[in-house]
Amino acid sequence: MSGDLSELYQQVILDHNKRPRNRGRLPTANRVAHGDNPSCGDQCSVYLRVVADAPGQPDRIAEISFDGSGCAISQASASLMTTQVKGKTGAEVEAMFKDFHRIVTTGEAPEEISDLAAFAGVHTFPARIKCATLGWHAALNALKGDPTPTTTETHAD
Ligand code: ZN
Repeated sequence: MSGDLSELYQQVILDHNKRPRNRGRLPTANRVAHGDNPSCGDQCSVYLRVVADAPGQPDRIAEISFDGSGCAISQASASLMTTQVKGKTGAEVEAMFKDFHRIVTTGEAPEEISDLAAFAGVHTFPARIKCATLGWHAALNALKGDPTPTTTETHAD
C-alpha cells in the first residue's frame, strides 16, 4: 500500500466533497453536537432528529444533517456518515463507527462495508484520521445528548 494521494482521494470521497449530502442546519433537530479538529482546522456540526419507536425503546435517527468547513476528507466523511446512519440507533451507530475506525486506522474493511471503505487510504496518512472521524464523533455525541463541543484533542483519534 503506497501513500499515493490519488488512492486517498477516491471517487466516493471526491463525489461527497463536490456534492455533500444532507448539508445545512436541520430545522426539526432535537439534538445537535459540534466537532472541532484544531490539528487541521476542520469544523463539523451534526443535527439529529431522534425518535423512539415506542416508549422505552432506544432512540433512532429519523433525520440528520451536518454543517461545517474544513478539508475534503472531513467534509466528505461527514457527508457519507449522514447517508449511512439514518434510521439507526445509537448502538448501531457505535458499531458502524467501530468498523469505520478500523478502516481508517488499519486500511482493513469488513466485507459488508461498501462506501465507508473508500476511506481505507486514510490509514497511510495518520494525521488525517482525525479528519475522517470528526463527523462521527459529533454524531455520537449528539446521540448521547451531550451538548459539550467535542474536540479531537480529547480523543485518541
Ligand atoms: Zn482535515
